[in-house]
Amino acid sequence: MRFEYLTPATLKECVGLLGELGGRAKIIAGGTDLMLNARSRLIDPEYVIDITGIPELGRIMDDQGGARIGAAVTVRDVSVSPFVKQSYPLLATACSLIGSVGIRNVATIGGNVCRASPSSECSPPLLCLDASAKIVSPRGERTIRLDECFLGPGCTTLAPDELLCEIQIPPSNPGTRSVYLKHSQRGSIDLAIVGIAALAVLQPDSEVCEEIRVGLGAVAPTPIRAHAAEKLLAGHALEDGNIAAAAQAAADESQPISDVRASADYRREMVRVFVTRALREIRGRR
Ligand SMILES: Cc1cc2nc3c(=O)[nH]c(=O)nc-3n(C[C@H](O)[C@H](O)[C@H](O)COP(=O)(O)OP(=O)(O)OC[C@H]3O[C@@H](n4cnc5c(N)ncnc54)[C@H](O)[C@@H]3O)c2cc1C
Repeated sequence: MRFEYLTPATLKECVGLLGELGGRAKIIAGGTDLMLNARSRLIDPEYVIDITGIPELGRIMDDQGGARIGAAVTVRDVSVSPFVKQSYPLLATACSLIGSVGIRNVATIGGNVCRASPSSECSPPLLCLDASAKIVSPRGERTIRLDECFLGPGCTTLAPDELLCEIQIPPSNPGTRSVYLKHSQRGSIDLAIVGIAALAVLQPDSEVCEEIRVGLGAVAPTPIRAHAAEKLLAGHALEDGNIAAAAQAAADESQPISDVRASADYRREMVRVFVTRALREIRGRR
């Protein structure tokens, strides 16, 4: 493992380096994923560009009620941010369930998304929150919906000279209730067997869903929204029968694999169980 370590101090300098070095360079943020891959020779970059010294990538900003979270903000800072906890509690919870304290102190939200792991903890909540990704490169700037970032396990739509700059989240409806549940063998230190995010706006004085979104992690090649489950619940009450039908639909639309952590059948069943739990928890919240 031999590479030149570059530490741009500004976004402009970083974009210049990406333009000059293209595919010969890899971006490093917390390095919790990249360093493992480099050590096991899955990647062999000539240059590594550390983005953690770029001030605008390290900020969480309240943008008229919406959030702009710099790609290099650590998941620990996201999890303890009073603004994120207040406005997007499911994202704060998901970030608090990543790895150990040591991992959370360096792992970044941008790295979690760009790693494109099916079991990414941040992605199901961000999909439910309709988040977007602001991307910069020597060719300029573009913003895409988060679901447009993912191609498959470890694969994003970002070109080698593109940098995820910021995660943007629209303001949340004041009545929004949300939850994130992680099921794993060894608590937060282990990757999820399933990760379930759910978000709902219920009509006042009734349990009818005005808005309902369900995000699934670790049960498909990429984190996904459970659209069939959402369709079953939209405009209907969060009653046990409807919840059961939606949870089954979410299990049916998942495409899990068997691996060292769990079999595909077990994962599918856990989608049903944890979507049920998540929706019941939302119903119980005021
Ligand atoms: C012991 C351990 C436990 C873990 N537990 C969990 C867990 O419970 N849940 C979970 O989701 N993950 C877990 N992970 C995986 C990993 O730590 C996280 O996904 C983390 O958020 C990755 O962020 P990072 O900043 O360390 O990324 P890095 O390792 O720095 O980068 C990851 C990848 O993204 C690219 N990249 C990083 N930032 C950008 C950017 N701004 N623009 C473009 N590309 C970029 C890098 O080039 C690299 O390919 C764990 C890892 C370890 C080692």
